[in-house]
Amino acid sequence: MKITGAMLIGQTEVFGTQDTLLALNPSSGATLEPTFGGGGDSDVDRACRLAADAFDSFRESSLVARAAFLRSIGAGLLALGDSLIDRAHEESGLPKARLTGERGRTVGQLEMFANIVEDGRWIDATIDTAMPERKPLPRVDLRLRRIPLGPVAIFGASNFPLAFSVAGGDAASALAAGCPIVVKAHPAHLGTSELVGRVIQKAVADAGFHEGVFSLVVGKGIEIGQMLVTHPAIQAVGFTGSRSGGLSLMRVAAARPEPIPVYAEMSSINPVFLLPSALAEKATTIAKSYVDSMTLGVGQFCTNPGIVVALEGEALQQFIEAATEEVSSRPAATMLTSGIHAAYQAGIAKLSSAQPVTSLVIKPATEASCQAAPALFVVDAADVLKDPELATEVFGPSSVIVRCRDAAQMVDVAAQMEGQLTASLFASEPDDDLARELLPILEKKVGRIVFNGFPTGVEVGWAMVHGGPFPATSDSRTTSVGAGAIDRFLRPVSYQDVPARLLPQAIQDGNPLHIPQTRDTVLKA
Ligand code: NAP
Repeated sequence: MKITGAMLIGQTEVFGTQDTLLALNPSSGATLEPTFGGGGDSDVDRACRLAADAFDSFRESSLVARAAFLRSIGAGLLALGDSLIDRAHEESGLPKARLTGERGRTVGQLEMFANIVEDGRWIDATIDTAMPERKPLPRVDLRLRRIPLGPVAIFGASNFPLAFSVAGGDAASALAAGCPIVVKAHPAHLGTSELVGRVIQKAVADAGFHEGVFSLVVGKGIEIGQMLVTHPAIQAVGFTGSRSGGLSLMRVAAARPEPIPVYAEMSSINPVFLLPSALAEKATTIAKSYVDSMTLGVGQFCTNPGIVVALEGEALQQFIEAATEEVSSRPAATMLTSGIHAAYQAGIAKLSSAQPVTSLVIKPATEASCQAAPALFVVDAADVLKDPELATEVFGPSSVIVRCRDAAQMVDVAAQMEGQLTASLFASEPDDDLARELLPILEKKVGRIVFNGFPTGVEVGWAMVHGGPFPATSDSRTTSVGAGAIDRFLRPVSYQDVPARLLPQAIQDGNPLHIPQTRDTVLKA
């Protein structure tokens, strides 16, 4: 499949005339062909209008057809073979093995949403049958189902060019819900986005769906994204990226004449609490796994463990020495973009110059393009409690060890934290009292609690929560990974005393869709 530099607006290739963009190889700094034409107002308008036109037929497409469509996208991604992996590698600097794994995850995610669509639980079909004889008042016939919100704007993430991008979790869950999507390609992987976009475009045509089910737009700077979010046809937004970008889009969405929800995943430092017994038992082993986790993918994971919190003492000293040795031995590696690299270098420079912080490992930046070496710091909890800025996200392979005077101080650090995607606890049985004290605090702060493990490696499953209170996300009631991601793009509608012949199939008495229905409070699967 050839990359042409075009946007995909419905079934039409459109070469944008607003400006031009080139993808960059972050390892070499070289530009990558072809030149992409950036779109403008009229392109966004056309994509969004098409999405609106597609909505009614797509949302009522059969569950079988929609599931087959999602599976055909997965098959199309696999059929691209090495060309997809090679291009994603050139554009992101990520190793091919990692990208091959990420493609598997993306295909698996599409398969999971295909299964979810067929399963039908997401519709939440609920029937309260009429009770005309009820006293003192008769009960009406009331039926509920969930319907999709409408066209969704999706911003591909830089750090997962496949799994959180054009056919990633936001796209798969919105399409599964029955929402047409307009995706804004991340400028860091334009060619990868086009390749994946063409797969979805073909799957739309093969399924016989309206062409507006999918469009891909490209543009320089924030304008095109803002046009998308302000377009009246767009009814929700999925975003993964910076806190400033997410906040800006939330403001834009809230200022529309008709405000819409923005599901933004933004910033998280994923604290790891090392409880005393667990630390004493295996300080060195935990240190090695910690460094593996913080350097994985050059630290460019939203679940990167950005701080470790532990009690001062011999075991922590052993942990610090082992972690310092590990981090020192890890080489520099290529970050995704020059912007992310510059932000990382600035972040570790700021930490290393902060008076209360001790730099355990910090290597000078090299001349080579986008190369980042891991960095490790230690600071006293009392200083973090005074200045929480010392424990904010530095996106990349950097982490801060927070040394607590006692258990009470560890609890204070947990209580002061901002919202997070995850918190991890290393604990063995003698730590249970402290774990019991921390757990209810952490529940209020995070979307996922990990025991005796690190947060990187997010399982895509039905029980996964990849979300959390602000600033981890803009809406702590949801998840962007796992089956629950579909809920973001649905809303409930009640049908009161609607004649049987006019009812949607999902809530008809005969249950023609064969989906789980709750009837008079009893779930019938
Ligand atoms: P980003 O700068 O937030 O950009 C993400 C996407 O949103 C890009 O397509 C960008 O467009 C667009 N965008 C950003 N701000 C916008 C605005 N105000 N209005 C409209 N569109 C906007 O994120 P990034 O490029 O991926 O990385 C930058 C930083 O984000 C990283 O250093 C890291 O701190 C953070 N990050 C966090 C996560 C996470 O998982 N939470 C993942 C990746 C990155 P343009 O680039 O075309 O302007």
